[in-house]
Amino acid sequence: MPRYVVGNWKMHTLRDEAVSLAEGVARGIRDLDPAEVVVGVAPPFPFLEAVGRAIAGSAVLLVAQDLHPEAQGAFTGAVSGPMLASLGVERVLVGHSERRSLFGEDDACVAAKLRGALAAGLDPILCVGERLAEREAGRQEAVVAAQLDAAFADLDPAARARLLVAYEPVWAIGTGVTATPEQAGAMHAFIRSHLGPAAPPILYGGSVKPKNASDLAATPGIDGFLVGGASLDADSFLAIVEGCRAAPRSE
Ligand code: PEP
Repeated sequence: MPRYVVGNWKMHTLRDEAVSLAEGVARGIRDLDPAEVVVGVAPPFPFLEAVGRAIAGSAVLLVAQDLHPEAQGAFTGAVSGPMLASLGVERVLVGHSERRSLFGEDDACVAAKLRGALAAGLDPILCVGERLAEREAGRQEAVVAAQLDAAFADLDPAARARLLVAYEPVWAIGTGVTATPEQAGAMHAFIRSHLGPAAPPILYGGSVKPKNASDLAATPGIDGFLVGGASLDADSFLAIVEGCRAAPRSE
């Protein structure tokens, strides 16, 4: 099974910056075997098409940051799965903690988006993770289990096989505080046992940087990374990709 490293550019870059960042990533992974590491970039919506052109012919996957659950309709400002698919998007983030906390997305909304993505032929990256107060109260497993249960309810095996899960403890996102390999490894093991033998690959996200990528990637159960801040610089993103590729596999 390959590892995965996906860069979430959030609401950063202007058009030309997005294109040159994408070109830098595509150039940097020219010799990388996608059977070892699958690399994706998630630019802002307006730049998906230009970034898609910049990575055409490379192994870089085009990923979107969000979608609306419905295929079309009177939803001013929203972007649907079929629209994304028509631009060549292959995967989409669903349930990122910034969507949950800043845009009021609850588990039902996340589940609806997941189904909208699958129906449009997009493979979802489901983001889950606890807040600091929940971890301090020892509730991190209960919180993540509830997020997983809401999203996975009624998904058939074929749909499950299309998912990636990203464990992103909210207290580690954009804060510079990374979960230790032990904390991340423990949660990944919990998620895997909760989802059972057909559990999808599980990525870690939360202040992944070139300096901590190798240790995290070598941790049993961590199948790759969702990277925010460090994905905005091609060199640091590519260093994370290389840290992930070179880390010993624990299985
Ligand atoms: C993210 O946005 O998914 C993320 C993990 O951000 P950062 O790497 O900046 O913590």
